[in-house]
Amino acid sequence: MSSIFTKIVNKEIPCYKIAEDDSFLAFLDINPLAKGHTLVIPKKEVDYIFHLDDTLYKELFAFAKKVAPAIEKTIKCERIGITVIGLEVPHAHIHLIPINSLYDMDFKQPKLKLTQEEFAAMAEKIRGNL
Ligand code: AMP
Repeated sequence: MSSIFTKIVNKEIPCYKIAEDDSFLAFLDINPLAKGHTLVIPKKEVDYIFHLDDTLYKELFAFAKKVAPAIEKTIKCERIGITVIGLEVPHAHIHLIPINSLYDMDFKQPKLKLTQEEFAAMAEKIRGNL
């Protein structure tokens, strides 16, 4: 069965898209730790990030590097934190999170609740800063 992220890639379920090319997709996390929390994925479904081939692995991080400045321009923050967890969705992904302190990277804290309109407006703003 396809991962939920493959379903997003195949447009079977929607996402708040930030950026896309032939091999990668970036979209807002629907349970964000902070406004602008973005996921960057390879379109190819591989569960564990360290099982990506070297080229795809490097290109995934290069794609995230293009997306991060646009998030930073949109959300006032100290910097963009980057982390990989992968315990919930078995499809490799990088989290890009606007942060001001270590605590902002703590996945145990409650997630933000945003409306569809707020997500859509945020994605549009970040896209505008790409
Ligand atoms: P993890 O696999 O532990 O890195 O966590 C997966 C992340 O994907 C979580 O932060 C979820 O909120 C996020 N997530 C799960 N389903 C979706 C979805 N349909 N759209 C956007 N983000 C999602």
